[in-house]
Amino acid sequence: MEILLKEITLISDPQEGFKHKQTNITIEDNRITQISPGAKLPSPEYVIEGKNLVVLPPAVNSHTHLPMTLLRGYSDNKVLYEWLADIWAIEGKFDAKWIDLGTKLACLEAIKAGSGGAFDFYFQETVIGKVIKHAGLRGWLGAGLLPSAFVNQGGLESQLKDFEQLLKDVKSSPLLNAAIAPHSPTTVEEEYLLQSKDLAAKHNIPISIHASETRKEVLDCEEKHGVPPVERLDQIGFFQEGTKEVVAHCAWITQREVEILGKHNAMVAWCPASAQKLAYGGVTPIPELRKAGAVVALGTDGTASNNTLDLFREMREAVNMVSFARWDPAIYPAEEVLEDTHWSFRKYFHPESLIKVGNYADLVVVDFNTPHLQPIHNIISSLVYAANGSDTHSLIVNGQLLMHERNVFTLDEKSILNEIESQIPELLNS
Ligand SMILES: [Zn+2]
Repeated sequence: MEILLKEITLISDPQEGFKHKQTNITIEDNRITQISPGAKLPSPEYVIEGKNLVVLPPAVNSHTHLPMTLLRGYSDNKVLYEWLADIWAIEGKFDAKWIDLGTKLACLEAIKAGSGGAFDFYFQETVIGKVIKHAGLRGWLGAGLLPSAFVNQGGLESQLKDFEQLLKDVKSSPLLNAAIAPHSPTTVEEEYLLQSKDLAAKHNIPISIHASETRKEVLDCEEKHGVPPVERLDQIGFFQEGTKEVVAHCAWITQREVEILGKHNAMVAWCPASAQKLAYGGVTPIPELRKAGAVVALGTDGTASNNTLDLFREMREAVNMVSFARWDPAIYPAEEVLEDTHWSFRKYFHPESLIKVGNYADLVVVDFNTPHLQPIHNIISSLVYAANGSDTHSLIVNGQLLMHERNVFTLDEKSILNEIESQIPELLNS
């Protein structure tokens, strides 16, 4: 595909100070071929005229459960353990058909919110991978491990078999990456935690886990093992040289655990909207984690606890949550959350798709021709505090135009919405 972005405002890399400049960008096949004011193509298939349009790398959702779109609004206003009981009961009914439908809705929502991909964490990731590939997004597919005592999703041995299949499936597309995802140190026995980290090392893939989401979880872990969850993970050798770890939440962690995460250069995938909605009280210590060398990246969590996949909204939740809790409006400035959402995940997992000549072409275009984004005193401030995912105009991933002027090309929006409307009663009554 040949695409020309004309006279568009490009936000530079955070290391270059988020400078923005007007330029032209050309894309040929799946690569960025030129970035300069005079750049042109003889006959591009698409021209994006850049007046009042801003371009930056699309966010990758660092922690989510895509098929949970089917459960948006299904159970609200409950504490985590009551909420999980509702969710696990209905997730036990999710066979491949529901996982496929929920992921289609999620990918459609993610594209329309300008996201370029996700680190997913669920069961039957082979089904999810097929949908992500078809949608044209990038996927890190975390094969979930959770015993059948909690959810009726085949049990650990069958989930490990799914993982073996996933390792083969991801070879079919450069957009897909396999990962392993034991649910948490309190729900998965040590034997399987150890097996997961060995599999991650053996196959050279990332590992993800939930940890220290609630105070109850921390107290339970301390009672059983004498140390809090992240420290316990460290004790059993979960963090290992050469493996990338994505630890979700970390809302109730000690300074000692901050240092552990920093020392191992682990990614902390935190989800402020979900944290606030489930009211678990702890605020992930973002400034300390950044200082210690951990990679902070923003996630939405699943849509049953958020309840959207909109990472623009999530940025606003993130800065406001940290500054409110710390009585300091400058402790986590807009520039840092923009970096953590649109750059940090890519730098950690896929730097070859940052906006640079020769790199894979992943770009999101935000339309500032709208009342709530005018006037433009400060583009970064507007992106973080005022923009929504629905302000995205176009989305390009790996050189493919997935959305242009709000029209999605890779998924049939109308038929997915019709399917959701007609099928959901069957899920509820099954
Ligand atoms: Zn989660």
